[in-house]
Amino acid sequence: MSADERNSGEKSTVAVVKTGGSKNEHLERGFRSLLQALGGLEAIVPSHVKRVLIKPNLMMGEGWRTGITVHPYLIELLVREIKKLRCEVIVGEGAGWGCGSDEAFRGTGVSDLCERLNVPLIDFKRGKGIRVPVHDGFVLKDVLVDEILIECDFIVSLAKLKTHCETVVSLSLKNMKGLITEDRERLRFHLLDVNRCLIDLNRVYRPNLSIVDGVIALEGIGPLRPGRPKPLGILVGGTNPLSVDAVCATIMGIDPRDIRHLSLAEEAGIGTMDLSAIEIRGEKPEDVAPPSYEFPPLRVEDLSPYDNIQVSPGNPCSNCIASLASYLHGYIDRKIIEEATHRVNILIGAKAKSKGSGDEIAIGNCLLKYRGKLPFVPGCPPPSDAYLELIELGLKGKFPVATVNSDGKVVPVDEK
Ligand code: SF4
Repeated sequence: MSADERNSGEKSTVAVVKTGGSKNEHLERGFRSLLQALGGLEAIVPSHVKRVLIKPNLMMGEGWRTGITVHPYLIELLVREIKKLRCEVIVGEGAGWGCGSDEAFRGTGVSDLCERLNVPLIDFKRGKGIRVPVHDGFVLKDVLVDEILIECDFIVSLAKLKTHCETVVSLSLKNMKGLITEDRERLRFHLLDVNRCLIDLNRVYRPNLSIVDGVIALEGIGPLRPGRPKPLGILVGGTNPLSVDAVCATIMGIDPRDIRHLSLAEEAGIGTMDLSAIEIRGEKPEDVAPPSYEFPPLRVEDLSPYDNIQVSPGNPCSNCIASLASYLHGYIDRKIIEEATHRVNILIGAKAKSKGSGDEIAIGNCLLKYRGKLPFVPGCPPPSDAYLELIELGLKGKFPVATVNSDGKVVPVDEK
């Protein structure tokens, strides 16, 4: 069943509720208020629905307190309520690039939870992929997703309220990216244009009910570290993912029209992000908005806070950006920057090109073509501490055609 069939006739209503804390009792109260404000789950889930997919954001094995993944108790509440409708429930996710879903499920406690609730937990990265056609897509003609989606009548997105270094925010529309089965399909998104591909995916599969967990949100350079947890104590929900995301963006203090994938979603006819056309129930966005919300730099080029470290991107994915950001904003030794005599130019992402300027360092397996030609940091993504030696050598004017071994040591390219 297509998203258009599932979403037809929906009204753009978004509810915003305060939880009053992050204990289970707070979440339960907030969750019930949210559903009540939306008219109740029975009114939202059509009577013909047999199988419901809950798609939580479990991008890696980090707990909900980090602001990176959703609170497992919200999954439990959803499972319990959906079961009351006599629907079959499954929980499914494909963890982020470089992380096995198993690890993410275990680290977030969701493996144990689903076992206890006797609910299937599907790893989309290991599922059988099928190519589903995308009609009138911006860039995609088809998209590779787990075949189990064909049998799901209804999708509940349980997204986290987060910043994202590529897409500015990671909310309901972005949460659908976890439906993809293979890492190479994710890479295709990044190489083609992640914003347009995301919306093409949402043309086919988008949430029928979107709930955003802003109990502990994430700010700064998300969607993982060095992003920082931001306690907001709110849940936001509705049946149109674009309208829900637009309200969340407003709470975060950013105009939804400044977020490219939201504008593209409106252009694709997914819904409205015009707040005057959305009925907002519960709290007003301005009453739950924090005084400030820190966003990542809008351009990867601006990731470095230092004049003598330049970043030259060629469509890197968020994991490489987050890894580099984590190095630049955390691991780097400020003394080395102060004493630097040379400039370093970091190439990142498969489309980055060397200009032969003699000051370049290539990072990430996407740029394996430069191994043996430039200083090269391997990994997908490279661990943040793997940059240390090569970049520090560069800042002293040394650019050995070398690589980094598993201990983070600079070694000749033929040495592991
Ligand atoms: S090397 Fe970096 S940019 Fe390339 S796919 Fe891996 S994490 Fe993404």
